[in-house]
Amino acid sequence: MRWNALLPALAVATSLSFVGDAAARPLAFTGVRLIDGQSSKPIEDAVLIVDGERIVAAGSRTTVVVPSDAEIRDLHGRTIMPGLISDHSHVGIVNGIDVGAQNYTSENILAQLKAYTARGVTTVMALGLNGAIMPEIRAEAHAGRIPGADLFGVDRGIGVPDGGPPQAMIRVSSDQLFRPASAEEGRDAVRAMKERGTDMVKLWLDDFGGSVPAKMQPAVYAAVIDEAHRLGLLVAAHVHDLEDARAVVRAGADVLAHGVRDKPVDPDFVTLLEARHTWYIATLALDEATFAYADAPAWAQTPFVRTALSHDLKARFDDPVWQRDTRSSTKAQGARDSLAMNLTNLKVLKDAGVRIGFGTDSGAAPERVPGVAEHRELALMVQAGFTPMEALTTATARAADLLGLRDRGQLEAGRRADFIILSADPSEDIANSTRIIEIWQRGRMQEPVSSASP
Ligand SMILES: [Zn+2]
Repeated sequence: MRWNALLPALAVATSLSFVGDAAARPLAFTGVRLIDGQSSKPIEDAVLIVDGERIVAAGSRTTVVVPSDAEIRDLHGRTIMPGLISDHSHVGIVNGIDVGAQNYTSENILAQLKAYTARGVTTVMALGLNGAIMPEIRAEAHAGRIPGADLFGVDRGIGVPDGGPPQAMIRVSSDQLFRPASAEEGRDAVRAMKERGTDMVKLWLDDFGGSVPAKMQPAVYAAVIDEAHRLGLLVAAHVHDLEDARAVVRAGADVLAHGVRDKPVDPDFVTLLEARHTWYIATLALDEATFAYADAPAWAQTPFVRTALSHDLKARFDDPVWQRDTRSSTKAQGARDSLAMNLTNLKVLKDAGVRIGFGTDSGAAPERVPGVAEHRELALMVQAGFTPMEALTTATARAADLLGLRDRGQLEAGRRADFIILSADPSEDIANSTRIIEIWQRGRMQEPVSSASP
């Protein structure tokens, strides 16, 4: 089936503005404060030059030569930073407050990719639970033929029969998740994912607070990891508890897709992650989202957040009965405890020099709002003890490294022109990451944030 037949609305990609193309001249953004994704401080009075889809120069005014034919945009007082990159999100799981396989449609996924970009997230890794249409959408996103965040994906991912991830929670169809019963079935699942071009392998090692009877057996995850590595694929593991994280890293997992949330990390664990060069994605915003909207904090009342919520989700968050029930629930208390432990552990691991990635598990549940969760993650990283610059570098350059992407994540010559223009400096106050004026992707200006609401 042709793509346009699948998605008639796409044939008219009207929402894109082709400023760069139309001019067919390089664009020079001058007078800006530049956060390039690598430097430890912003570069004041900087210049960013874009030609087509790529950056051709970026740096201090004293080092960058503006081409004589360039179209100049003076942006004094503005900050330019790379587009955010999520290493752990999901697409096609949620629609409004509805969760389930019926939402894995190209229309819904496209709307979510646009929602990400509208809030400055220009690349997204859908870390599992993907249906059969994912490779086609990913190819269209890579080719720049659809608006929205560029999409990478872990095919289905590998769970456990009668175990994690709990079907009652994710409600996916059988073509969105493997649940191998043996090591050999685990290897078969990895090979099938590889054949469909998966970008990584994901497995779940967790009993979800004792809510599921079975956990992945060591022989199965060892086989999955071995097969993935044989085929040149990295393995990301969903974990919650320290002992599971330790076991799966010892077995060779390359990425911990969540922070350790049951107890403090110990020196042996820290040494293990350092020795194995394991990536660690804390997903702080995940647990915060479980309780925070019921508390109605100031950040949740801002237009940046409110315009990202569907009608149904807004109604839920505003319902006093839902707020009261959520606040007093054991689930909310558990999430508060998990977040506190996650914050503490992240600081320890960061200080030890462990490789930290960036992700939130946005899109896996209604309250994990695409494009909002990522800015909460930045704020929470600062709460954990990151400087704002460290948080921003993690969410851009380091996040690209985790995905093996050398063409984005930093603003330097040769890389994709994926960047955000902000009205205030996020290195001074991380909350300024939401003060987005423009979003540029592959050298094209995208829809502004105000129209991001679905
Ligand atoms: Zn996830």
